[in-house]
Amino acid sequence: MVDYPPMALATPVIPAHLVDSYGRQMGDLRISITDRCNFRCVYCMPEEGLRWLKNDKVLTVDEIVRVAGLFVKMGIRGIRLTGGEPTVRAGLPDLIRRLNPLLDEGLQSLSLTTNGFRLKELAGPLADAGLTRINVSLDSLVRDKFHRITRRDCLHQVLEGLEELERHPTIRPIKVNAVAMRGFTEDEVIPFAELARRKQYVVRFIEFMPLDADGNWQRDQVLAGREIYEMIHAWKPLAPVSVDPSSTSRVYRFADGIGEIGFINPVSEPFCSTCDRLRITADGQIRTCLFSIDEWDLRGPMRDGAEDWQLAEIIQRAVGHKELKHHINEGPAFHRASRSMSQIGG
Ligand code: SAM
Ligand code: SF4
Repeated sequence: MVDYPPMALATPVIPAHLVDSYGRQMGDLRISITDRCNFRCVYCMPEEGLRWLKNDKVLTVDEIVRVAGLFVKMGIRGIRLTGGEPTVRAGLPDLIRRLNPLLDEGLQSLSLTTNGFRLKELAGPLADAGLTRINVSLDSLVRDKFHRITRRDCLHQVLEGLEELERHPTIRPIKVNAVAMRGFTEDEVIPFAELARRKQYVVRFIEFMPLDADGNWQRDQVLAGREIYEMIHAWKPLAPVSVDPSSTSRVYRFADGIGEIGFINPVSEPFCSTCDRLRITADGQIRTCLFSIDEWDLRGPMRDGAEDWQLAEIIQRAVGHKELKHHINEGPAFHRASRSMSQIGG
């Protein structure tokens, strides 16, 4: 949707909050900075054949900084850079450095979601640039299984990257996210729980969603968070930790106080009613839900010279159309999203 408001007679007021038509106030923005990736996780990308965005379609650093600043003026409190794999974009620390001043303008966290492959070299520069939090994706602690799921033999590099992060205490918490798949994850549940106790990582299990580019998702491949919880709780008791109502994860601490585990259960326990998230794709489209069919273009208007208040109106209009919920559990009412996960920005 490309149309944007005309100059004449419009009042250039930028609202301080973004509230959707169901009364949900938006607080969190995921910005994808590239659709490219150095891994090919089976639940996300095809082995080959995905067409990359042309460079001139991807938002420039100046455009990202402008859009981020506008969203913070409109009440966004958390920004997370993602992709594709954000660390494959050149100059990531410089981008973080440009975004960091927003932490003095109302932003409360500036974070990154990464597959961890380049963290050994990047953790220091990212800390110096002012990154405040990080999520590292890690689906297996066994080399061969890691290779199978990511289609890359790189477990060692990711573990080294995590170790490097531990040397940079300004980036906290370190969250380790594992996509849980039936027939793949069960025998890693306790090893992951042990990791959460051995290291200061919050380990979180994410249910597999129908966002894989190959379109192979099947309901019976979803390993529900509740099942994993029960496996861990039977091994060592867990006690709930209270979290912000808009949080996507259910969080638990081991009863002896050592180690934290989270469950992100979008399939078995949808959290749409408290969803406060918006996304910007690498090519500058607003998406109001992972499962959106429609997008709202910011790049075109920006490049046509739109003023901030005009972009703000587009953002408000998009938020006004934010979906009530996803329909994964509604049989034929479910339609796959218009793009797959790496093209959206998870
Ligand atoms: N490349 C980075 C990474 O892997 O962390 C950032 C982008 S990735 C799309 C963001 C998150 O989405 C990762 O934690 C990944 O595991 C998750 N993800 C990708 N496809 C998924 C799917 N089909 N279901 C659930 N989570 C998925
Ligand atoms: Fe790449 Fe992340 Fe998708 Fe894996 S989950 S293919 S690392 S974008």
